[in-house]
Amino acid sequence: MRSCAAPLFEALDRFAAQDVVATVPIPAFDMSSMDGYALIASESAMQKALRVTSEQPAGLHLGLQVEPGCAVRIFTGAPVPAGADAVIMQEDVRREGYHIICTEPVAVGENIRRAGVDLCRGQVVMRGGEPVTPGRLAVLASQGLAQINVHARPRVAVLSTGDELVPPGAGPLQAGQIFNSNGLMLRSLLARLGIRESTHVHCRDDLLDTTGTLRRLMDENDVVLVSGGVSVGDHDQIKPALRHLGIEPGLWRVKVKPGKPFLFASRHGPHATHIFGLPGNPVSSFVTFLLFVRPALLRMMGAADSQLAPRLIPVTAGTALENRDDRPHYLRGMLDGGRFMPFGLQQSHALMSLSRAGALLRLDAGQTLQAGDPAEAWLLD
Ligand code: AMP
Ligand code: MG
Repeated sequence: MRSCAAPLFEALDRFAAQDVVATVPIPAFDMSSMDGYALIASESAMQKALRVTSEQPAGLHLGLQVEPGCAVRIFTGAPVPAGADAVIMQEDVRREGYHIICTEPVAVGENIRRAGVDLCRGQVVMRGGEPVTPGRLAVLASQGLAQINVHARPRVAVLSTGDELVPPGAGPLQAGQIFNSNGLMLRSLLARLGIRESTHVHCRDDLLDTTGTLRRLMDENDVVLVSGGVSVGDHDQIKPALRHLGIEPGLWRVKVKPGKPFLFASRHGPHATHIFGLPGNPVSSFVTFLLFVRPALLRMMGAADSQLAPRLIPVTAGTALENRDDRPHYLRGMLDGGRFMPFGLQQSHALMSLSRAGALLRLDAGQTLQAGDPAEAWLLD
C-alpha cells in the first residue's frame, strides 16, 4: 500500500500509515485553569489577608514561588508557581490593594491542570489505519507536527453509461432522455470518503465506445465505478466490453434488493485495476456503493478493519415491515426518536425517497417486523 507524508490539513479524512507517539505532554506543564490567584490551599479557609507578590501571565514561565501568607496573581493557561497547590478564582476573593482575602475556601489541586493528565509522553495518539479527523488533527498539531504519514488515496473514475443520459445543465431533454443523476451521486459518495478528485466520463451503449473508454480509464485509475449497463439487456455493454479486454467478472449479480445486477471484476498485472459495475437505477447504485464499494475503497485507503463497518444504531420498527422476497431488502426511511419509518416509494428508481432518507434498514429475506420490534438501522448522513 502506498503512503506519503502529507501536511496536516491535507491529511484530513485520510488514514494514518503509522502509529504516532506523543512527545509533548498535555498539559505541557502544571497550568492554571482559571483567572485568579495561586496560593496554598490551607490558607484560603482562614479569612486572612494574603499578600500578592507578583503576577504570572500565560506564555512565559517566570519561575515564581508562592511563600506562606502570599499569593501570585495568575491567568488561565499560565504555569503554576512553585509552592502553590491551588488556584482560587478571582470571583472568590476580595482584593484590597496588595492583598486578597478569600471569600470561599479552595481545595488542594483545585483549578490546576496537572502536566500530562490528558496525554503523557510516549502515549500513542493515533494508530496506523485510524482516520484523520478534526479532533485527531488537533492532537497532532499539539505535538508540534507539521505533517504525518498517510496512505495514498486510490485514483477513481466514474463511468456513466447510457444513450438516454444528458448531463445536468445541457437540457432541454428530448423525448426519451433523462438527466444523468448517478454520476454526481457517485462522485459525492466518493467525496464523503475523502476521494474528491475523481474523474467522470460518459459513454454511449456502444460496444466499441464502451471498450475503448473502459480500457483508458483502467489504465489511468486504480478503480473504475461503472453506472448502468451491467444487466442482461441487449444494450448492456459492460460485460461484453470486459470480455473484449480479456477480463472475466469475478462476481456478477448479488442477492440484494435493490442492486441485483451488481458486477465486480479485476484486471490483474503490474497495475491492478478494480471495476465495480453498479446498476443504473439510482437507488441500486447508491445501496451497492455503500455495501460493496465503500468498504473496498476504505480498505484501499488503508483503513483498519474496525473502520469498515457501517454506522449501525439500534432502532425500533415504526410500523409493521415485511420482506416477502428471497433476498434482503434495504429499506429507505427516516428516524424519528429512535423509530425507523419507511419513507416514500421503495423501488430502485425512487430518487425522492432516497434524497430524504436518513437511514437504511435491512430486512432479511422473509423477515417481518411488528411496530415496536427492535432492529438496526444504517445511519446515512
Ligand atoms: P441500466 O442499469 O443501464 O439498465 O439502467 C437502469 C435504469 O437506470 C434505467 O432506467 C436508466 O435510464 C437508469 N439510469 C442509468 N444510468 C443512470 C444515470 N446515470 N442517472 C440516472 N438514471 C440512470
Ligand atoms: Mg443502461
